[in-house]
Amino acid sequence: MEFIAFTYVGNFMEREVIDEVVFTVFDEANRFFHESDIPLRFLYIGKLKLEPGYLINLTTPEGKIRVYPLEALVDVLHARLLREIEKNPELKMNKIFALTTFPLVSRNPYFDFYERFLGIHETRLGLRIMVLSMKPFEPEGLGELLKRTPDEDTKRLVRERLTLFKDRVLKGVLHEIGHGFGLEHCRNDCVMNSPSSMEDWDSRFPGYCDSCFINLKRAVEWSELSLGHGEGGKKF
Ligand SMILES: [Zn+2]
Ligand SMILES: [Zn+2]
Repeated sequence: MEFIAFTYVGNFMEREVIDEVVFTVFDEANRFFHESDIPLRFLYIGKLKLEPGYLINLTTPEGKIRVYPLEALVDVLHARLLREIEKNPELKMNKIFALTTFPLVSRNPYFDFYERFLGIHETRLGLRIMVLSMKPFEPEGLGELLKRTPDEDTKRLVRERLTLFKDRVLKGVLHEIGHGFGLEHCRNDCVMNSPSSMEDWDSRFPGYCDSCFINLKRAVEWSELSLGHGEGGKKF
């Protein structure tokens, strides 16, 4: 079994419902791997809180927002993964996956809309760092609904939006995992078919097409095998 360290990076004023979305996505992804007989599991390593010192100001059409530059986040995640590997040398693990609640920005001018919408990958010294922001997937109006007095109607609307939120993020996670094991984009009804809009993403099948599934399974089995050589997780 190969493990991917899973963390959740938030800031200071997270709403509890966001935690719920993250943990549902975590559970459902693991259930998916289990039911599909893919020797891969997420290993939860705790929530990560970034120091406010990393924050930078960004001027957007909607006004000034405070964000974390991706470069700083990748450094933190790399260090965190190294620590987890040292703590659990018996685990086959050389990847970390982070869901962030804030939008991702970079000083890299080539960082376009598309990359912001789906995730980021970086390989450092043989370790793979994957980051996906939940922010672009947040359904419209959720923030407003959460501020209302929770009568029956509001509760129902919140439920619906949280389910939609979770479905969108889960597809995003599966998409990134696909890339993490070398899959490219495809043109089928599949999470590896990159969307051109959110409606497009909502209508997408919440799993891999046959061809992506076979490629993923083969790649995970191969990766798991190659991680097995050498001394435990020390091979990177
Ligand atoms: Zn992609
Ligand atoms: Zn596909």
